[in-house]
Amino acid sequence: MQGFEYPAEPHVRRHGPAGYADYGSYRDWLRDEFIFRCVYCLHREQWYGRPGTFDIEHFVPVSVDPLGKCEYTNLLYACRTCNAAKTNVLAVPDPCSVAFGDCLRIERDGEVAPLNADGKKLRDVLCLNSPFNVSYRSRWMRTLETLRDCDPQLFEEFMGFPENLPDLRRKHEPANTKPDGVEDCYFALRERGELPTTY
Ligand SMILES: [Zn+2]
Repeated sequence: MQGFEYPAEPHVRRHGPAGYADYGSYRDWLRDEFIFRCVYCLHREQWYGRPGTFDIEHFVPVSVDPLGKCEYTNLLYACRTCNAAKTNVLAVPDPCSVAFGDCLRIERDGEVAPLNADGKKLRDVLCLNSPFNVSYRSRWMRTLETLRDCDPQLFEEFMGFPENLPDLRRKHEPANTKPDGVEDCYFALRERGELPTTY
């Protein structure tokens, strides 16, 4: 169902900020880049978006490549649970190189089914089928299905964008290899009335 399908294509980065001295400065860029959800488990800010719930994930761990610490192309947006599970593991595929939709499918009972070897790595490293994760996912799926039928407004709140969209046009980043991307940040889309109700 909506919200529980992995991307059918590898992620193509829309933004290219560079030059920040601390990786935390990339947070809003990454939120927008990865549509306010965890790249690994699809958990959304809108589902549990309290501050501190999401981390900046170093795809190649800093312990392996310290130079990648503040390199935007090495940074992903992940929930704290997935970030903690991945830790220093190098063996998972990069969502910017591999379509996770080719690797994983979420079943109606909340289980994640791996579709290939990369999917098995993702499932195992990120503990996607831990009893907690499966029951949590299943509960959300049933909740959203019920809301879709019985309370469409609340369904849209959970499946829509967060209120606090960052306006990337006002970030004054030190450098940017994809400066045009800021015009299509979700804040700008909302301003132009082009933000979808749900995604
Ligand atoms: Zn996650």
